Amino acid sequence: MYDFAFSKPTNVADAVKLLGDPDAKPISGGQTLIPVLKQRLNKPTTVVDLTKLGLSGITVTATTVTIGATTTHVTVATSADVAKAIPALAHLASHIGDRAVRYRGTIGGSLANNDPTADYPSAALALGATIKTDRRSIAADDYFQGMFTTALEPGEIITAVEFPIPEKAAYVKFPNPASRYAMVGVFVAKGPKGVRVAVTGAGQNGVFRHTAFETALAANFSAGALAGLATPADGMNADIHGSAAYRAHLVDVIAKRAVAAAG
Ligand SMILES: Cc1cc2nc3c(=O)[nH]c(=O)nc-3n(C[C@H](O)[C@H](O)[C@H](O)COP(=O)(O)OP(=O)(O)OC[C@H]3O[C@@H](n4cnc5c(N)ncnc54)[C@H](O)[C@@H]3O)c2cc1C
Repeated sequence: MYDFAFSKPTNVADAVKLLGDPDAKPISGGQTLIPVLKQRLNKPTTVVDLTKLGLSGITVTATTVTIGATTTHVTVATSADVAKAIPALAHLASHIGDRAVRYRGTIGGSLANNDPTADYPSAALALGATIKTDRRSIAADDYFQGMFTTALEPGEIITAVEFPIPEKAAYVKFPNPASRYAMVGVFVAKGPKGVRVAVTGAGQNGVFRHTAFETALAANFSAGALAGLATPADGMNADIHGSAAYRAHLVDVIAKRAVAAAG
């Protein structure tokens, strides 16, 4: 790890000012950033801690669940309000990594990082979430722009994520047995924004919407509606954990399970 200065501002304006330095980097749970710094893959001059900005907490209305950016995975997983409004989201959070990761990692850090095998991006995309930052609101459809790439500008801070409450939703993940990251994860939702299916872990460009499945499920929201639809292997990840064809097959299997779970 290289030397760096460490700042812990107590309001968003001060954090944004510090992050105006292009060599400064925000940190939330540190579950991704610290390993990156340890491997000397990044060399910020200043690390700006976001955890004292007052961005933690969950607000539920009749139509939305809004989660502050520095809310930890365990807080979402154990929230009775989230479990009631969007049980699939609480379920997703409860299956991220291991206990230590869930106690430190945050929703804002996960969405800012946009790991192609992370869980939250699939929920944000399938539920049609809005990513709120210090300067604007970004629709999930515009936010995810490829592997580890988002619409965030340099120095822009995610402050919260707003999820519309769906009529039905479920998330099913086939986890890598070592890391628990998704080999394939499918989030299915039927809600105010229609039927939406988002797939994580599988695509070379990160999370994506499965439009063929969405069309079939919009006509008939049942696992049977997906019978006979085969996801092409083109564009799927291939690595030591599985071939592109294997991942494509997993998408088909996991999507049917997710629809069945959504009921
Ligand atoms: C062993 C292990 C297993 C894991 N398994 C899973 C898994 O199964 N599923 C899964 O989804 N994830 C998994 N993770 C990742 C975990 O969910 C992390 O919480 C997540 O990657 C990053 O969140 P963080 O709060 O730790 O972010 P940090 O590490 O603090 O930051 C990550 C990146 O986001 C930036 N950032 C942080 N917060 C903000 C913000 N509010 N606004 C703008 N930029 C910001 C940072 O500058 C950095 O570039 C795992 C991690 C580990 C170490």
